Amino acid sequence: MPELPEVETIRREITRRIVGKFFASVEIRVPKMVSPPVARFASLIRGKKILAIGRHAKMLTLSLSGKKFLVFHLKMTGQLVFVPQYGKTVSGGHPIPNVGVLPNKFSHVIFHFRDGSTLYFNDQRKFGWVKLVDDGGLEKMFAPLGVEPLSKDFSWEKFSALVHRYPNRMIKQVITDNALMVGVGNIYADESCFCARVRPTRRARSLRLADVKKLYRCIPRVLKFAIGKKGTTSDAYRRPDGRDGNMLAYLKVYGRKGKPCRRCKTPIVKTVVGQRGTHYCPRCQR
Ligand SMILES: [Zn+2]
Repeated sequence: MPELPEVETIRREITRRIVGKFFASVEIRVPKMVSPPVARFASLIRGKKILAIGRHAKMLTLSLSGKKFLVFHLKMTGQLVFVPQYGKTVSGGHPIPNVGVLPNKFSHVIFHFRDGSTLYFNDQRKFGWVKLVDDGGLEKMFAPLGVEPLSKDFSWEKFSALVHRYPNRMIKQVITDNALMVGVGNIYADESCFCARVRPTRRARSLRLADVKKLYRCIPRVLKFAIGKKGTTSDAYRRPDGRDGNMLAYLKVYGRKGKPCRRCKTPIVKTVVGQRGTHYCPRCQR
């Protein structure tokens, strides 16, 4: 599943390729993946120009002419593939074999641009979605979401307050709860806890002020580092140009069960927090 750094990588790499293009038409093969309903979606998007591409948590937001916004969520297995009229195809999100054959049976929403290029929204499991909204709809969509750790809103006051809102929760559950904070998924929650030397299973109430301060500094640091490495390679993520992300080599704990801690050589332990596989060093993290 693409996390914040992976979605940010997709955003950066497709922006220069699709900003400025005009939508000519859309083919919707799985109606439940779009909103509003098919006919209205298709008529609204026709002729709109892409002005900019933003990201909010793990959602990609295309600002369109006419004050409309096209919002994608790739969920578990979504993938965007841009095929220009001339030049190289780029894809991002979940890797689907034989992406060269397009459209394929996973191409559920297909956007055609006026210049002959195409954007395919593929999804093996069809949990992903794309919504066309106005600014009011966009506000409503983002309102229930917590603070974004790479934004200016991520203040120390906000972070320390949200850590203490549910004192009996494990700290990993707190930092991965989208209603409190967005964009920190399984991989980067484990990595942030290692960076802060805090065990992900610790109850929020048991954290000392110094622990909370370290976490506050570590979360954006880990995310920025991962964006710099263009995300993490896993079976669920591929960079927009089809190459693997480079972050895998830099992961300290995630996916390293039984392997020596990069800092102290103690084998990394795997446990479960809120049904998610969770990794930590039993010596470095207390
Ligand atoms: Zn260690």
